[in-house]
Amino acid sequence: MRTISHFINGQHSSRPGAVTSPVYDPNTGRVQAQLELGDAAIIGEAVAIAKSAQPAWAAITPQQRARVMFKFKVLIEEHMQELARLMSSEHGKLLDDSLGELQRGLDVVDFVCGVPHLQKGEFTRGAGPGTNVYSIHEPLGVVAGITPYNFPAMIPLWMLAPAIAVGNAFILKPPSRTPSVTVRLAELALEAGVPAGILNVVHGGKEVGEAITGHPDIKAVSFVGSTAVAKSVYARGAATGQRMQCMGGAKNHGVVLPDADLDQVVADVLAGAFGSAGQRCMAMPVIVPVGQKTAEALRERLLREIPKLKIGGASDPGAQMGPVVTAEHKSKIESYIQMAVDEGADVVIDGRGRSLPGHEEGFFLWPTLIDHATSSMKSYQEEIFGPVLQIVRAETFEEALSYPSDHHQGNAVSIFTRNGDAAERFVGKVAVGMVGVNVPMPVPVSYHSFGGWKDSAFGDLNQYGEDSIRFFTRTKLVTQRWPRGGPGVD
Ligand code: NAD
Repeated sequence: MRTISHFINGQHSSRPGAVTSPVYDPNTGRVQAQLELGDAAIIGEAVAIAKSAQPAWAAITPQQRARVMFKFKVLIEEHMQELARLMSSEHGKLLDDSLGELQRGLDVVDFVCGVPHLQKGEFTRGAGPGTNVYSIHEPLGVVAGITPYNFPAMIPLWMLAPAIAVGNAFILKPPSRTPSVTVRLAELALEAGVPAGILNVVHGGKEVGEAITGHPDIKAVSFVGSTAVAKSVYARGAATGQRMQCMGGAKNHGVVLPDADLDQVVADVLAGAFGSAGQRCMAMPVIVPVGQKTAEALRERLLREIPKLKIGGASDPGAQMGPVVTAEHKSKIESYIQMAVDEGADVVIDGRGRSLPGHEEGFFLWPTLIDHATSSMKSYQEEIFGPVLQIVRAETFEEALSYPSDHHQGNAVSIFTRNGDAAERFVGKVAVGMVGVNVPMPVPVSYHSFGGWKDSAFGDLNQYGEDSIRFFTRTKLVTQRWPRGGPGVD
């Protein structure tokens, strides 16, 4: 059986006798590889290597680093199909979904190809008599990323591309359920010209994560994962003076006003709620129709359309939804559906208890639709992270606005309407970090930035965009005055 090992100092780094954990193929339910798990000592080793490699990488010109990032981008483009297959085989998302994810990651690599411009400082001539002021954005040294299973390529690229482009060395701890694609990306980065030791991948779980947060030679940690872990990782790292950005979970709402184009809304809701089997932090697992007439019309359309969704393996042509990542995660989702039943919600389509012919052992669930969910229900308050769509009915615009605003998660929200005034009021008032207007998953483009509010993100700077350049550099401000005159001048 294949063993997946660490990638340190430009090489695969296997440790005989290491503790391993199984990596499943969710499409078949079979174990397809064993992942070697690291520990604090391996983190220490990787950090020491990164620390000695980083100064030379930081010393070359920004333009030279940009050229390496450009080569990296081209290599990823050349290997898209291979990378997508690798991801789909461990995550279960459809091949097209994996390709889309890679493109989103590539967009950030594209963005950092402009690093000479992004990293250049500001300059004021004549800030005082004979005085100039300028700023320099220096890399931090060794920085790290801890990433979630559901975007095994995109989120590492969000972090490592800006971190390396500005001159840092990077330690990446990928998730144990979907680790392979990150190792392949590290190989491609090396081939592109990222020097050995600048991008190191160390596998593992909590122990390795905890060795990263608080490590005295790791100056910043970018984390994406569930809220509970994000919150504790943020507190642990910040207490030791590490710069932290920790993105957490989500419960994104789609508010549907009576004037919305319901056919379009249903198409968007199906993609938002069931794409990637609901395992996206930008998924839309809650819809809030305004008025009973809107709710009934939406429910009727969803009852008609949801059963038509084709469930299949990640590489099945025509499949619209694949399996979830593990048997354990499938049970967790099922327990939330049961919780909704017990709490008195109306489970109108129950996705449990079916199996896919030819994939009987795969981790498949069918889409679930729950009506009459309310804000007091635990199944509404908590993130389910599966193919489960909840309808929370509202009587008025203000009531609909209150659900996403009062929810403890604040990653994303969408409003569907033809009324520009209502949309503007919603955008202005809603207490959520990323807002869509007639857009189901408002993921900002790579030259803006990505981040939620409340329990969806801890820290001040967002992922990618100019925020990422600020996050991975520290600013030095120089105020400079030269004596007037001198030999040959006056
Ligand atoms: P998770 O929190 O279980 O794990 C995330 C990462 O943290 C993994 O690499 C894991 O090994 C590591 N980890 C676990 N315990 C740790 C500890 N004590 N210290 C340091 N690291 C530790 O999340 P997951 O199940 O892999 O991913 C799904 C979650 O991620 C969902 O909640 C989803 O909403 C969230 N997510 C959020 C965003 C966002 O941008 N807000 C994006 C994608 C996913």
